[in-house]
Amino acid sequence: MNGNSLIEVKNLNKSFGDFPVLKNINETINEGEVVSIIGPSGSGKSTFLRCLNLLEQPSSGKVLFEGVNLTDKRVHLDKHRQKIGMVFQLFNMFTHLKVIDNITLTPILQKKVPKKEAEKKACELLERVGLLDKKDSYPGTLSGGQKQRLAIVRALAMEPKVMLFDEPTSALDPEMVKEVLDVIKDLADRGMTIVIVTHEMNFAKEVSDRVLFMADGVIQEKGSARDFFNNPTHPRTIEFLSKVL
Ligand code: ADP
Ligand code: MG
Repeated sequence: MNGNSLIEVKNLNKSFGDFPVLKNINETINEGEVVSIIGPSGSGKSTFLRCLNLLEQPSSGKVLFEGVNLTDKRVHLDKHRQKIGMVFQLFNMFTHLKVIDNITLTPILQKKVPKKEAEKKACELLERVGLLDKKDSYPGTLSGGQKQRLAIVRALAMEPKVMLFDEPTSALDPEMVKEVLDVIKDLADRGMTIVIVTHEMNFAKEVSDRVLFMADGVIQEKGSARDFFNNPTHPRTIEFLSKVL
């Protein structure tokens, strides 16, 4: 891990109507860090993650990515967003496109990568996650775990600077959780900056550098993974951990 900040969140507020979901959040994600976000359902974890790439428009505050304020209307958002990969709980594949074409579509269209080059890169990535033999299959024929590995490859094909994961294993059958977490762990080992919302406490403990605990739209407690799990101090954290560990 090095110390350069990649994402800086400053005084971030988000309301849906009159309902405040994120309340003055300040946080910095450094290059190479793996940060897990945990907390009860409805606490604002997904909204926070979606604000990082402006899938949600903050009500106020700033999100700086590589020093550029993404909330500035003059910023060419798509150009910066290309560098922020995202994987959701459930992934929408293009079901009429083969696996390989699902991966190469965006690099070809948005980054003007030549088709041959995009396919070569896609094959390398598929091999890395054990899916090379599926390159000419259609997504509908894949298992949940394979689909999620494909979703990760699809994001990686854009060569992002950071990967955001929103509960990437929550919709999977238990036997498929590990194959997806192993891919994410491998990414972490390769130095990728990762922000992941997860209920997998062992993963948060073992793979992340830092843990953020969200409740009621604020980061109630944060720390190194070790400190966080060994010595939680906030009553809400202690209560939450007592239920999930
Ligand atoms: P989490 O991911 O921690 O479960 P969310 O960020 O999804 O929490 O949601 C936080 C709160 O914001 C919840 O009360 C949810 O109902 C509300 N919320 C999320 N998205 C919307 C939306 N698009 N419109 C209205 N309310 C929303
Ligand atoms: Mg969520």
